[in-house]
Amino acid sequence: MRFDYLARISLDNLRPLLSLFSADLAIDLGTVNTRVYAQGRGIVVNEPSAVALDDRTGEVQAVGKEAKEMLGRTPAHIRVVRPLKNGVIADFKVTEKMLSYFIQKAQQRRTLVHPRIVISAPSEITQVEKRAVAESAYRAKAAEVHVVEQAMMAAIGAGLPVAEPGGNLVVDIGGGTTDVAVISLSGIVYSCSLRIAGNHMDEAIANYLKRKYNLLIGERTAEQIKIEIGSAYSLGKPLTMEIKGRGLIEGVPKTVTVDDSEIREALSESVSTIVSAIRMALERTPPELSADISDRGIVLAGGGALLKNLDKRIREETGLPICIADDPLCCVVLGAGKILSDFKLLRKISIE
Ligand code: ADP
Ligand code: MG
Repeated sequence: MRFDYLARISLDNLRPLLSLFSADLAIDLGTVNTRVYAQGRGIVVNEPSAVALDDRTGEVQAVGKEAKEMLGRTPAHIRVVRPLKNGVIADFKVTEKMLSYFIQKAQQRRTLVHPRIVISAPSEITQVEKRAVAESAYRAKAAEVHVVEQAMMAAIGAGLPVAEPGGNLVVDIGGGTTDVAVISLSGIVYSCSLRIAGNHMDEAIANYLKRKYNLLIGERTAEQIKIEIGSAYSLGKPLTMEIKGRGLIEGVPKTVTVDDSEIREALSESVSTIVSAIRMALERTPPELSADISDRGIVLAGGGALLKNLDKRIREETGLPICIADDPLCCVVLGAGKILSDFKLLRKISIE
């Protein structure tokens, strides 16, 4: 026991020295995007969580950006896979291949000392999956792996005082899931994860255009529409967009012009579901912590936080101050990066 303690102390003392030789890494394994932060260098990987596989040989053809660009344009034997779906790992083997590719990419040079890796995992991940994620990182030559909770990382990345007594409410709207969490004293007091987030919004837009205009569009177009003219509350200045797709009846290319109010209608169900989950979190939070939240407000993170006027809509419905994290897309990986240099906190919140 005592030796263990001593070993730990001396290792901690040596860390600043060791970090000269190894770049410790923080990884946000997201449904839509994976990001890697290297200590001392910042974000070194920011790419879609996608892998292109050759079905004939089982080999990886491309990972990340390159794989996403192939989406919808591949020959029959190449398949583009998104190994994480709805916040859970749908395909382990492929997730592992992707993870080790990104880890290698993040370490530009061969290092003498193997890195420590902090991985922020989807909230609904099981114990078995956590172990599997950690093992793939060990196979990619990590010296030490910590799997941590995404919501906690989002809160740290947004600069919330998670270690203090006092409630913090973070809402991370990613691609596959929206995670609502109340955090106090470095622990999660309440959390809930919905499978309604960015991808669901894209599908809602595609379905709306199919129903209203008999227009078929692909997932990338749907996402573009959401980003350009999607909103959760009426905009001061109306926006329109010309959309190209395939006519469902005619079977030939067709263009329609849509405006922001139509896309708002398409997104209304997703947005209301997210708002209800936030209300539910507020109802279930112990009263002392609710009082803190009403002073501090709610922090929005994840790509979905960028949906136009989502903050306004949530403010309107909850009456609370709303703040969008400085860099909502990178909030989680920046949080995980911060705890790379805070061992005490890391040990406290590591879940595997
Ligand atoms: P994940 O953590 O699940 O990988 P991210 O936090 O990276 O997800 O967010 C990706 C999601 O954010 C995608 O669904 C993307 O369409 C959405 N997104 C990105 N930018 C915007 C924007 N400006 N408006 C609305 N949604 C956006
Ligand atoms: Mg995320």
